[in-house]
Amino acid sequence: MLNGDGLRVVLWLAGCNHCCKNCHNPITWDPDGGLPFDEAAKQEIFEQLGKSYISGITFSGGDPLHPVNRMDVRELMAQIKEKFPDKTIWMYTGDCWEDIRQYSLLCYVDVLVDGEFIDEKKDPKLLWKGSANQRVIDVQQTLAQEDPSVPILHCGDYGEAFVHTRKPENVRGCCD
Ligand code: SF4
Repeated sequence: MLNGDGLRVVLWLAGCNHCCKNCHNPITWDPDGGLPFDEAAKQEIFEQLGKSYISGITFSGGDPLHPVNRMDVRELMAQIKEKFPDKTIWMYTGDCWEDIRQYSLLCYVDVLVDGEFIDEKKDPKLLWKGSANQRVIDVQQTLAQEDPSVPILHCGDYGEAFVHTRKPENVRGCCD
């Protein structure tokens, strides 16, 4: 319930190079830490995702995009989207959208929370993120734009509905 919309399965990945000050989870920095992700663990995730009240899965950590994780995460996301096309995939990363927006695994991600945790910008009232610099990005809407370099947000900082400001096609404004 604390890692995205609805009731979610969460997979915590070991390995993170960002070393944010006052990271909430430094035990996950070591890429050799944690438990091996084996077939039984994968089947447990599938079993949970099969339940009607589960909204989807969130990849967190650590950093799912740490080089030791990225390819395996992509493969697991592909299998999840094939088996459970109606479930959403969220991902947390310390990387910024601008640096990762060409990663192929993003085709499987519905919502991305990006950016390092900056302690000076911490605010416990923020929705789905720890510090104000981070963004909760609607990945598929962003990728569908002509210019995907500017992320479209999934929600506002405090959960207010995000109002898209793009003009509908074929509507000209007074400055056109
Ligand atoms: S990116 Fe996340 S897990 Fe990594 S150091 Fe920063 S807060 Fe911790």
